[in-house]
Amino acid sequence: MSGLQLNDVYLARQRIASLVRVTPMDPSPSLSKQLGVPVYLKLESQQITGSFKLRGASNAIAQLSTGQRAKGVVAASTGNHGRALAYAASQLNVKATICLSQLVPPNKVQAIRDLGAEVCIIGRSQDDAQRQAERIAGEQGAALLPPFDHPAIIAGQGTLGLEIIEQVPDVAQVLVPLSGGGLFAGVALALKSANPNIRLHGISMQRGAAMHASLQAGQPMEVEELPTLADSLGGGIGLDNQYTFAMTRDLCDQVHLLDEASIANGIRHAYFQERQVVEGAAAVGIGALLDGLIEPRGPIVVVVSGRNVDLEQHLRVLAGANQ
Ligand SMILES: *Cc1c(COP(=O)(O)O)cnc(C)c1O
Repeated sequence: MSGLQLNDVYLARQRIASLVRVTPMDPSPSLSKQLGVPVYLKLESQQITGSFKLRGASNAIAQLSTGQRAKGVVAASTGNHGRALAYAASQLNVKATICLSQLVPPNKVQAIRDLGAEVCIIGRSQDDAQRQAERIAGEQGAALLPPFDHPAIIAGQGTLGLEIIEQVPDVAQVLVPLSGGGLFAGVALALKSANPNIRLHGISMQRGAAMHASLQAGQPMEVEELPTLADSLGGGIGLDNQYTFAMTRDLCDQVHLLDEASIANGIRHAYFQERQVVEGAAAVGIGALLDGLIEPRGPIVVVVSGRNVDLEQHLRVLAGANQ
């Protein structure tokens, strides 16, 4: 196992208390009515930087020694992890370098620069950017911080689980978006330590669910990456996965896979019924409930993980499109 313990999550919470927001736990009248049991939305879409990734990123930087902090941090991510790392580093006066490929659109590059990070643009793929991040870590001694498979990242995401148990002490089931498994592993560690009877569901998209394929195979597997509305759930879990695969295998009660239409339904429900702008990855829990995939035993908490959706895509989906 990972060796990670509940106490690591409590230590993470102390470290990041001044950097992250305690996010709202809103009852959903419409989903509660539909299911016949209380349903709550844990609105991590209202976290600073627009996703829960700030929890892990903040903890990973805050736990570095003074000497390590002086050498900075580095990552290759165009998405929510890069954004969160850039923000947390600027708050902690640590230099962050985010490596991006030449194919990343200029507005995304600028968004990461605006958060105070140094941007290094290299090559023509995410793999090229990752190799450059590793080179910088090697040459400058900067700490390479991956998006999920790292104990400090998992413990940071686990602070979300502590909030769930405090905000809904009698929670029976929790729905967690599942990709690399950093969010799932951290939340599951916190919740199953508090009460092993809480049922934990991991929700992924059908198009390229690497963790699901890996759980089925009994070892980390590669799957083809496909375009999906849940773009923040894309990507592999790493064939040399150290932590999140084993933790997800041991702590997950059930995995559900959603098609694009169900994810789109989740986005529309969030907007029209809950007045929330959420990205596809964050809408999968709502989509699973609307599809009737979850037995109606409550209270149910749905983790709504982020809001960083492309606005043109959001408008298309609200108008009825499923892509
Ligand atoms: C990263 C991310 C996820 C998945 O988290 P993992 O730790 O990779 O499983 C889900 N939702 C959003 C919005 C994310 O940014």
